[in-house]
Amino acid sequence: MITPREYFVSHLECGLTGTLHEAGQIHGLSPAGRPLLVRYDLDALRAAVTRETFAARPATLWKWRELLPLADFSNRIELGEVATPILPLERTAARLNARAVLVKDEGRLPTGSFKARGLALALSMAKELGIAKIAMPTNGNAGGAAAAYAAAAGIEAVIFAPEETPEINIREIAAYGARVYRVNGQIDDCGKLVAAGKDAQGWFDLSTLKEPYRIEGKKTMGLELVEQLGWRVPDVIFYPTGGGTGLIGMWKAFAELEALGLIGPERPRMVAVQAEGCAPMVRAFEQGERHAARWDNPATVAAGIRVPQAVGDFLILDAVRESGGFAIAVSDAAIEEAVSAVARDDGTLLCPEGGATLAAYEKARRIGLVSADEEVLLFNCASGLKYPLADQSRRLDRHKPIDWANL
Ligand SMILES: *Cc1c(COP(=O)(O)O)cnc(C)c1O
Repeated sequence: MITPREYFVSHLECGLTGTLHEAGQIHGLSPAGRPLLVRYDLDALRAAVTRETFAARPATLWKWRELLPLADFSNRIELGEVATPILPLERTAARLNARAVLVKDEGRLPTGSFKARGLALALSMAKELGIAKIAMPTNGNAGGAAAAYAAAAGIEAVIFAPEETPEINIREIAAYGARVYRVNGQIDDCGKLVAAGKDAQGWFDLSTLKEPYRIEGKKTMGLELVEQLGWRVPDVIFYPTGGGTGLIGMWKAFAELEALGLIGPERPRMVAVQAEGCAPMVRAFEQGERHAARWDNPATVAAGIRVPQAVGDFLILDAVRESGGFAIAVSDAAIEEAVSAVARDDGTLLCPEGGATLAAYEKARRIGLVSADEEVLLFNCASGLKYPLADQSRRLDRHKPIDWANL
């Protein structure tokens, strides 16, 4: 029996300067200090795969293995990844007089967030490359996913989180056996600790976009949604943007799918959604900059997008601009209102970052950046159950007479 070829990586390439780097070795940032992107032999791939190749496989991110960086597919670490559903928010769409408001619910993945996609690939590659210890900064969900996949891979994990990180995330990380530290600073301050300790401690730095493979895992969101929509793209994608891995990854996915002849040149407009209390990409977008200055004193309830500075800023801003999209900021009040409206109207509990995408859509409609007849896809990146919910319960004393009419 002939084993079909599954490994198509040709090399790695600096996302900013285009310098070329050999695959199959341990890599961090490029010599320019910017993210490395994995490149594939797309001509060979085009001859090797069709839509049917992928359609015939189980619905998990691993179905895209020819477009993933593992040289030996048996090195993959699986924790039951699923293809996440695209749900129509029907009552929300009716309320907003919209043709179609869809939400890709990433909260169904292992560890309850889409960080599982990136960390599944990053830890699988770490295992393949023989890495024994990893360290990373997190606002919560990335740390949980890293700790879970590291546990499954037999890799030691050390995680640094800003002290305001939600308690559930800190406990989750520790539950998987990782060492977790609360740090009196922001996520970039935590990242500096990883950088400062890594040589002495022998850690591999797994920070967002500081190694090449998380983006390949996040890329599967783009591959998956195209297949789910019948090999086409939606008109607009609203993405809650922190480090931007998912937005960059999806943009890369669409380019690869086109190179393989699986879609045409059409692209969704990509919208980077941030919170008003931490909006470095929005500011850079509005000022016409390609790089974003650090946002001082970041503050928002949407912890996943509380990222004051991103090493892949230019990749986010390039994708947003090339797609004809935009960057937009919303208030915490609008985020919380969006979360409760969708839960009540459509029975879907968004995380605050997911709520931010709906709030951004509503704002974009109001100011005319998106029209009612465009099909929009929102990203709900984590289970709403990982976040504190308001206590809205009432008390009932079963020993007293009950006022049934007013229950
Ligand atoms: C990490 C995270 C984000 C931001 O994702 P990036 O791809 O890093 O920009 C958004 N929402 C949630 C819930 C997250 O955990």
